[in-house]
Amino acid sequence: MKLLIMGRPGAGKGTQAENIVNYYHIPHISTGDMFRAAIKNKTKLGLEASSYMEKGELVPDSLTTNIVCERLQEPDCKDGFLLDGFPRNISQAEALDKFLSDKGICLDAVLDINVPASILIDRMVGRRVCKNCGATYHVEFNKPQVEGVCDKCGSPLVQRADDTYDTAKNRLDVYDQNTAPLLAYYEAKNLLKTVDGNQDFAKVFADIKNVLSK
Ligand code: ADP
Ligand code: ADP
Ligand code: ZN
Repeated sequence: MKLLIMGRPGAGKGTQAENIVNYYHIPHISTGDMFRAAIKNKTKLGLEASSYMEKGELVPDSLTTNIVCERLQEPDCKDGFLLDGFPRNISQAEALDKFLSDKGICLDAVLDINVPASILIDRMVGRRVCKNCGATYHVEFNKPQVEGVCDKCGSPLVQRADDTYDTAKNRLDVYDQNTAPLLAYYEAKNLLKTVDGNQDFAKVFADIKNVLSK
């Protein structure tokens, strides 16, 4: 299964991506996670990306497209992959199309997790992530068993630097301006499958499996 998952910031892409990759046994390629790992490891890429991420702006295409194309050439992507957070504008989508067509690869579907912008600030500001394993929680909607501690590995939970009110708001605007046009782009290619993301976690995943089985 070769998939893209799209949706506004906070829509539940990362959460559902975990379910999808476990179910279909494919690698999860998240550009946001790749950038956060680069920042943590203080690499050159991390240094360059962090100033954009802090403001909720897009990291330049020249830095982004390469890391994705390199990752897609690793052997574990041969039989499938789930791309999360890429592409985020038309020029990234065109670069991805060129890469895939040069390699003779076709996407099976582009999932859009649709959630109205009005509820997403609360989702982002309440998000907590494990410092160690990256598991995602929410202070209200998906609480860990012990406040502030990861259920999976016992490490502390932290707030992402870009999950403050102002930055979250800017990320929604950046999505509307740059990323939203991709929905029509993939609809025109007959790949777009929209799922209502404003439902219980399990129902969203049930709907995803359902649209992907068609
Ligand atoms: P994205 O990767 O799209 O930014 P996440 O998967 O990290 O989104 O989810 C954003 C926040 O919303 C997290 O705190 C997550 O626990 C919570 N969340 C995800 N899906 C739902 C849902 N269906 N209902 C309520 N909260 C959700
Ligand atoms: P979310 O969906 O919650 O906004 P991500 O983890 O996908 O979170 O992205 C976090 C940040 O990483 C973005 O706001 C942006 O700065 C950067 N980023 C991630 N993917 C891309 C991309 N494809 N192009 C440019 N910037 C990106
Ligand atoms: Zn953990």
